[in-house]
Amino acid sequence: MGIENDTPILTRDTNARREFLHSTAVAGAGLVMSGLAAGVFTAPLGASNSPSRKRDPFPTPQAALDALYKGNERFVKGEVMAPNRNMSRLKDVAAVQKPFAAFLGCADSRVPIEIVFDQGFGDLFVTRIAGNVADPAIIGSLEFGAEVLGTQVIYVLGHTRCGAVTATMTGSEVPGQISTLYQHIRRATKESGGDVTKAIARNVEIQAEILKEASPVIARRVKAGSLIIAGGVYDLDTGRVTPIPV
Ligand SMILES: [Zn+2]
Repeated sequence: MGIENDTPILTRDTNARREFLHSTAVAGAGLVMSGLAAGVFTAPLGASNSPSRKRDPFPTPQAALDALYKGNERFVKGEVMAPNRNMSRLKDVAAVQKPFAAFLGCADSRVPIEIVFDQGFGDLFVTRIAGNVADPAIIGSLEFGAEVLGTQVIYVLGHTRCGAVTATMTGSEVPGQISTLYQHIRRATKESGGDVTKAIARNVEIQAEILKEASPVIARRVKAGSLIIAGGVYDLDTGRVTPIPV
């Protein structure tokens, strides 16, 4: 792709280093320490040869999903490529976007999707809402991502110690409309016997189910093999996404 090729190596490395520092600061100081110990603050040589995803979809939805997990693996290891994060890429996608994956993630500030999957401008179509719940507006947004933009994956991402799931479980009194989130999460908490970790995983499964069942648009694309729905839980302490069968 042209975007990294016209970026001086020094700048690229500096960007990658800054990105690494930023992302590990989010994930936890432990990673920074292990990154320092391993001396991984240099962008890998492959960074300049990464394939363009600007217009071409992955050959299969599974390949698109694999690319996400590879990105998370780079993030966890402190080997981020920080692809597609420069003005050249910004200009490339300014007129038209072709993101390869869509996300339903939590609004939690500690789970920035592009960073934890090591992606950049125009790669991901991201919806975020507290508790990563599939409410009608979210479903509509994800339908748009799949039907109009051609995303090959819809990924439901929960995370450890999710405040929305915990609050639903404890039934805390909250002001304003915060409690409207509870109705979407209550089934997961009820089925998890008071275990927040289980409820977080169950919530991912349930929201993925809702996406498959409530949206004929999504169901049709899944049946046709042009879209897969996947899910996982992000660990706030390690930065790792653990897949959950959905
Ligand atoms: Zn959360």
